[in-house]
Amino acid sequence: MNSDHLLLGPGPSAPYPEAVEALQRPVLGHLDAEYLGVVAGIADRLRAVFRTSNELTLPVSGTGSAGMEACVVSLVEPGETVIVGVNGYFGERLCEVARRAGAQVVRVEAPWGTALDPADLLAARRAHPHAAVLAVVSAETSTGVRNDVAPVGAELAGTDTLLLVDAVTALGGTRLEVDAWGIDACYSASQKCLGAPPGLAPVTLGPRAVAKMAARRTPVGSFYLDLGLLQRYFLASPPTYHHTASSTLAYALHAGLGRLLEEGIEQVWERHARVGALLQAALPDLGFRLAAAEGVRLPQLTAALLPDGVDEAATRRRLLDEYGIEVGGGLGEFAGRAWRIGLMGHAATERSVVTVLGAVRELLKS
Ligand code: PLP
Repeated sequence: MNSDHLLLGPGPSAPYPEAVEALQRPVLGHLDAEYLGVVAGIADRLRAVFRTSNELTLPVSGTGSAGMEACVVSLVEPGETVIVGVNGYFGERLCEVARRAGAQVVRVEAPWGTALDPADLLAARRAHPHAAVLAVVSAETSTGVRNDVAPVGAELAGTDTLLLVDAVTALGGTRLEVDAWGIDACYSASQKCLGAPPGLAPVTLGPRAVAKMAARRTPVGSFYLDLGLLQRYFLASPPTYHHTASSTLAYALHAGLGRLLEEGIEQVWERHARVGALLQAALPDLGFRLAAAEGVRLPQLTAALLPDGVDEAATRRRLLDEYGIEVGGGLGEFAGRAWRIGLMGHAATERSVVTVLGAVRELLKS
C-alpha cells in the first residue's frame, strides 16, 4: 500500500517536489559542519519568509505544537500573566499550553467564525499592564479566520508585554511581517504553506524576546524546547550538542523554502489569494456556507459548513475512498458540521480547486 492522496486538508499538504527529492539525501550527523551549514541556510531563508532580521531564527525539532511550546516555555515564567486571543481551537490550545507553563491566563474571546478585535486585546493589556506575553493565532485553522496582529504590535512596542504570534498556517500563505508589525516571537510549521513534510517548527525571536529570556529568574521548564539552548546548538560556533536533530527534515525544509523564495514571497501570497477566492466563490453554489465572516477569510484554509442533510463524516470518507482527496473535518464547535479545505504551498493551485469541486459535485449528486 502506498497511497498518493491529494492532501487538501488543514495540513500536512503535499511538499514541493524539490522537498520530496531532498528526503533521499544521505543522513548526516547532527554536529556535522555540512548539516549545520544547511541549518544556517534554513535560518537565512526563514528570515526572508518571516520578513525579519532576527538573529534567533531556527527550526525547532517537532511539529507546530513544538514551536508553540518552545516559545511559551522559553518566554514565560511561572506566575506571569499571559493574555490569549481565543476565537477557535488553536487559541484554546495556546491557553492550555500557557496554563501548563504556570501562567495566569487572561482570555480575550470572539465568536468562532469572527476575528479578534485588536481593541479588545489592547484593553485586556491595559487591565493587566504587567502581562508578560500577549498571544494571538494569526491564521486560525479551525475557522479559516485571519486575525489582524499589526495594530497590536504597534501598541505593545513601548510596553513590557511581548507579542507572540502563531503563524503555523499563516506563514507562506498570507502576508506576515514580523519586523514591520512589531512581532516579538513567532512560530510556524514545515508542513503547511512552506511546502515541506511535518517535523520542523520554524521559530523566530526578536531582541525584546531574547532579552526577556536572558533575564529569567527560573530555568526554562523544558530542556528539549529551551530556545536559549537551541540557539547554542544550531546557531553558535562551535555548536553545543543538545539533541540529535534530523538532517533529512532539514534538507527537505531547506528545499521547500528555496522553491517558495524562487517564486517570490509576494507572488506566493498572491497565488494563495487567487485560488482561495476561486474555491470560496464556488462553494456556496454547492450548498456550503463559509464559516468565516467576509473580509477576514483566509485563502489557504477554508472552513465550510455542509449543506443540510449531508452526512459530514461519511461524505468526507467517500471523498477519500472514491477520489483520493483528503479534506479535514470540523473542530470544536464545527465538529460534524464543517469541512476544512486547505490550499497550501504546492497544493495552492487552480488544479486542486477544480479537482475537489468536481469530486464534491459528483458526491452530492449521489
Ligand atoms: N497552531 C495552528 C494555528 C495550527 O493550525 C496547528 C495545527 O494544525 C497547530 C498550531 C499545531 O501544529 P502541529 O499539528 O503541527 O503540531
